[in-house]
Amino acid sequence: MKQTTEIITITLVTCYSCGVPFGIEESFRQSLLQSGNTFYCTNGHNQCYTRRKNLEEQLEESRAEKKALECRIPLCESKTLYSFIQYRFVNSLNNEGVETIGQVLELGESGLMAIYGIGKIAIDEINYNLNSYNIRLKP
Ligand SMILES: [Zn+2]
Repeated sequence: MKQTTEIITITLVTCYSCGVPFGIEESFRQSLLQSGNTFYCTNGHNQCYTRRKNLEEQLEESRAEKKALECRIPLCESKTLYSFIQYRFVNSLNNEGVETIGQVLELGESGLMAIYGIGKIAIDEINYNLNSYNIRLKP
């Protein structure tokens, strides 16, 4: 009778739910880490490694946020308030020391509404003009 010997690595893991220790072959465990697929303890509790998926989601969110910020930089640097809002509203903003669209974005709707002379019409006008930059005032 022919015998072969194979050396494999079994990694001990513990069920998060019932605490039973069980072994998973290491290369299989690596694939579970990569995929985030569900596996089961010996008592049938489902589990998965979520860390990688979460990190990928965070990375994707950060990329989207970075892209949005990159769009704002040229906007804040180059565009005057007159590009976004009527002259009469610009005067109201200037009176409160608001001179750039960057400041307008910082204030958001509630901050702007607190400024004398700025109301819903002005907010709608700013949002309308911001639309072409895929930006909206924060609430
Ligand atoms: Zn279990």
